[in-house]
Amino acid sequence: MLAKVAIDLALDRLFTYEVPEALQKKLAVGQLLSVPFGHREARGFAVEVGANGTQDLRRETLDARGLTSKVSSPKFKLRPITAIVDETPFFSEKLLELVKKTASYTASPIESVLRAALPAAVLKRSARAKELLFVEKRDQGLGIRDQGLTQRQKWLVENIERLGGGWLQQLCRELKTTPASLKTLSEKGLITIEVRAKRRDPLANRRILPTKPLPLNEEQKRALEAIEGEDLRRETGDARQGEDFRRKTLDGSKVSRLTSSRPVLLFGVTGSGKTEVYLQAIAKELAAGRGAIVMVPEIALTPQTVSRFASRFGDRVAVLHSALSDGERYDEWHRIRSGEARVVVGPRSAVWAPVRDLGLIVVDEEHEPSYKQDELPRYHARDIAVLRGAVEGVRVVLGSATPSLESWMNVKRGKYELVEMRSRAGAGTLPSVRLVEMKGGSIFSPELLEAVHLRLDRHEQVILFLNRRGYSTSAVCASCGYVVTCPACGVAYTYHRADSCLRCHVCGGWVPVPATCSQCRSSAFDFRGIGTQRAEAALQKCFPRATVLRMDADSTSRKNSHDDLLSAFRRGEADILLGTQMIAKGLDFPNVTLVGVLNADASLNLPDFRAGERTYQLLAQVAGRAGRAELPGEVIVQTRDSDAPVMKSVLRGDFADFATEELAARKECFLPPACHLALIGFRSKDLKQVSNWATMYAKSLQRLKDVRVSDATPGALEKADGWYRWQIVLRAVSASAIVRAWRWISAERPVPGGLRVSFDIDAFSIL
Ligand SMILES: [Zn+2]
Ligand SMILES: [Zn+2]
Repeated sequence: MLAKVAIDLALDRLFTYEVPEALQKKLAVGQLLSVPFGHREARGFAVEVGANGTQDLRRETLDARGLTSKVSSPKFKLRPITAIVDETPFFSEKLLELVKKTASYTASPIESVLRAALPAAVLKRSARAKELLFVEKRDQGLGIRDQGLTQRQKWLVENIERLGGGWLQQLCRELKTTPASLKTLSEKGLITIEVRAKRRDPLANRRILPTKPLPLNEEQKRALEAIEGEDLRRETGDARQGEDFRRKTLDGSKVSRLTSSRPVLLFGVTGSGKTEVYLQAIAKELAAGRGAIVMVPEIALTPQTVSRFASRFGDRVAVLHSALSDGERYDEWHRIRSGEARVVVGPRSAVWAPVRDLGLIVVDEEHEPSYKQDELPRYHARDIAVLRGAVEGVRVVLGSATPSLESWMNVKRGKYELVEMRSRAGAGTLPSVRLVEMKGGSIFSPELLEAVHLRLDRHEQVILFLNRRGYSTSAVCASCGYVVTCPACGVAYTYHRADSCLRCHVCGGWVPVPATCSQCRSSAFDFRGIGTQRAEAALQKCFPRATVLRMDADSTSRKNSHDDLLSAFRRGEADILLGTQMIAKGLDFPNVTLVGVLNADASLNLPDFRAGERTYQLLAQVAGRAGRAELPGEVIVQTRDSDAPVMKSVLRGDFADFATEELAARKECFLPPACHLALIGFRSKDLKQVSNWATMYAKSLQRLKDVRVSDATPGALEKADGWYRWQIVLRAVSASAIVRAWRWISAERPVPGGLRVSFDIDAFSIL
């Protein structure tokens, strides 16, 4: 018997081992093994297990890039597996299949996907459950009267029974006794003292009040039915048979029913009550004995979000996210694997949670960029969720108030089912949105200043939102707001200070900075954005008596300070919250009645093909913030380009209209989702080396017929921490053509040491 093992080193290949007689019955794929590797012991996962004499297993090892390497000679001696570290597999067969597919789609080593799929805390050699002594009254204990006990001892036994037992140290404190006294009682057979695993509960210090399902409105009911695939299940009589039924329809009988198994795009305006729909859909899964995964963007994974799920489902909820301690993460993950926890709430990585009998995956705010991992393996968690749904035959729900164009296109192509929720579920109406045209260099318009004054007088709160410009800048005419754009790609040029030219990051083309604006003939181009600190200073000048809280990457780098700032604002400790996009989502402040967007076009002018889409999402989300409670809300959007189609769509709240126009533009310029786009990134401390290699890669790749390859360009951030960055953009209708091209070039032209190359399929941004 042989096994292929992925060793926990980024070696990008599987190693074949002999399975010793004694382990053959117990060995299963997905188990963590200990194997000899070189002169030491290594740990790795069993990825494939085959019977003895499986010739291809012996002769070839398939690595994650899909390249096969021959084990040199037929006499090649395989080494035996040393031990099975944990007999319960870490990965089910289905989950392993998902891991392999992800590795191949993203061209990442399989070990990197295995590692991403497990919390590091679970794999640490020192990781284990926390064990403490637990005291309990013995069930069949002898009657207290007959034991010749003292009054004090009787009292202790009675109280231990009343408390239902407890942890030794805690009991000693509460009952003012000593371990020795309890040990005496245990020797008399009255109580038991045993070692038990004590759960490190991330929600232990939180007050969680149970909630009951809320009554649903008509739209919510329809959404819930769509998620359940009601028709399909009613027809087959049994919810669990959906899968078989689908297979039957594939044979040709009733093809129309096939629609019920597609992922659902739940497109609901802010405040339409999507979460309640998720909660009730999950409740049905639990009732049927199945589990669920709920994914939320890291930034939206606030205590409030987690509490909503914990309040409804109690201990059946496990939370997985980066703020947990190692111990908490270890315990939560094991509760999921053992089936004790049935509902997992977490960010991107939750898509890998080993939930038993999975029935439903929810991806909330599916358009959020944080679902894309920006290091190896560069997977998009929403896409992996859809893939997992297909692999495991479970329902996937993608929720958003501003869906990604990728998902919207999948609706248009009939791959996803669309369910809309257009009205707000609770109190509060959508705020009124007003566009204000900005002129000159001021930060605040008279309209916005007046509106802020009014709120301060009424003791209501204000949120001012400043689009981040980041390091990357485009050339914006300081007098008319015109942005210099690549004519072929429709994407704003990126300004490169080093050689003072404008480069297109999609096609690699470049032009010098024009001497005058082609629209108004003025000669002043602006490459700088407004920073939050500058806005804060200007704000203090206008409103010296107002308290301003500033929230940006600088002010929130400390752990928890994000939550701290928001809670302070919620308690009314400040009048104005000024911040970047991090304040745009998932927040609900009852006393906020005015939201101002200081520079709406900043993100529109970003030299990125998603600039329009991101601007729509940000503005729509900001507009959803004000007026959620009883007080009516107002949104003032300051812009230099009130004629831009995206501004008009936001004003009308018409996403479908915006999406149609934007999709047409993307198709015209051959940009995602009309194609797949990948980024090859080069980094080196040697400028010559990085530019030479990037240029050489681009030239070689440009000879391929099925992939459109840009010229090599410096990255938007040309140099960071002493590393120079260059990049190439690859576009093609099929992702596999791009991955093939990458595999070919990286095998053909392996880069020298000192040069780092990365490959990012479906790159979120070309900045
Ligand atoms: Zn101009
Ligand atoms: Zn271009």
